Amino acid sequence: MPIARLLAFALVLAQFPPPAVDVPTRPASGWLDPYRDAASRLTGEALSSDFAWQRLALIGDTFGNRLSGSPNLDAAITWAVAEMKKDGLENVHTEPVKVPHWVRGRESLEIAGPIPQPLVILGLGNSVGTPAAGVAAELLIVHSFEELDTAGARVKGKIVLFNVPFTNYGDTVRFRTTGPSRAAALGAVATLVRAVGPAGLRTPHTGTLTYADDAPKIPAAALTTEDTARLQRMVDRGTTVRLKLTMEARFLPDADSFNVVGELRGRERPGEIVTIGGHFDSWDVGTGSTDDGGGCVVSWEALRMMKKLNLRPRRTVRVVLWTNEENGTRGGSAYRDQHLAELPNHVAMIESDSGVFRPLGFGFTGSEQARERIRDIATLLAGIHADAVLPAGGGADIDPSVQQANLPSLSLEVDGNYFLIHHTPADTIDKIDPLEMSRCAAAMAVMTYVIAEMPERLR
Ligand SMILES: [Zn+2]
Repeated sequence: MPIARLLAFALVLAQFPPPAVDVPTRPASGWLDPYRDAASRLTGEALSSDFAWQRLALIGDTFGNRLSGSPNLDAAITWAVAEMKKDGLENVHTEPVKVPHWVRGRESLEIAGPIPQPLVILGLGNSVGTPAAGVAAELLIVHSFEELDTAGARVKGKIVLFNVPFTNYGDTVRFRTTGPSRAAALGAVATLVRAVGPAGLRTPHTGTLTYADDAPKIPAAALTTEDTARLQRMVDRGTTVRLKLTMEARFLPDADSFNVVGELRGRERPGEIVTIGGHFDSWDVGTGSTDDGGGCVVSWEALRMMKKLNLRPRRTVRVVLWTNEENGTRGGSAYRDQHLAELPNHVAMIESDSGVFRPLGFGFTGSEQARERIRDIATLLAGIHADAVLPAGGGADIDPSVQQANLPSLSLEVDGNYFLIHHTPADTIDKIDPLEMSRCAAAMAVMTYVIAEMPERLR
């Protein structure tokens, strides 16, 4: 999920706190009457089983995490194609994408002195590694970029730790993405960042960094909140702490990967398309169940349930499992490039990449007229309390296409502990409630179906 979107979503949540009891709903709109039966059937189908949760559990248990370029992701893609065909989806195929192939290798951080102690880290995605013997240096802790700049010459030769408490993702993640190059420009030899997430159980959060062109590339890792606090206490006592960081991280040549595509062809206007999906790649820790296996499955569920219930909408509904969102977003760019000619025929794009916890509704970006339509459609989700329509919609994988063709875009919005497990070994299926996930599938299915079925195109 891109930073700008997360920031926008945080603002949205601040404006629209989760409802204590119920969401105030709009009065029912008459034009929706022909769709109420289908919406009820889709919702009933979703809530009557834990199929979505079981499929997501199978993916995580079988393939594990799915970093771009990994054999796990390749195997999961092959499986998904076969399963979509078994579900009866149409035009099931893959679309090629060259992806960066970063590998973590072994990594460790220890207090080298006064007394050797291991600490818990995760190297940042796309980081360079250290020499085989590691990098040993004195620790310097800063709490802001201003403090880093003020430290000036004292940064040279140090391992810099950004100790910035998690407020929200957008505010805090910049120390992970740009901190390494800012410290390197002042002569730091490595960077640590306090894990970007609320305090967990000594769990580090990985994620990408972005090296600047005008600074040396230095290795960087995320350190747990607990270990960060420990180092801070030591420094506060006047202890000079020496650290040793060892990382084997490196890039291999770009690898072949694929977006997975399946459809239900439109009954009357097959050339008009509603594209929905999530990203099938994940970080190389945990099982990528929340980020973003769940988003892939609930999108896929929309088509599977329509097919099962013989609900073939007027327009084509397409599910895409994008590749390489986490450390390159090349899947989303490839979709834009490979579908350039038909992008204007995309009626809307919907992404689910915020987890499949208790659904609140959808973020929407588009015309005011279209927003009114989406608000009406969302009333069909009042029964599962997922009828909110929030100001901003989009997603890292759909944004390239949405921006290229100025398309209406939606994102499934949920309420849950997303950032507690985000990019950690704790991103596993057990954090996801089957009923909440079924409600997410219902929300995706109803919204998608009505946009694809209503006589007038969403504009
Ligand atoms: Zn994601």
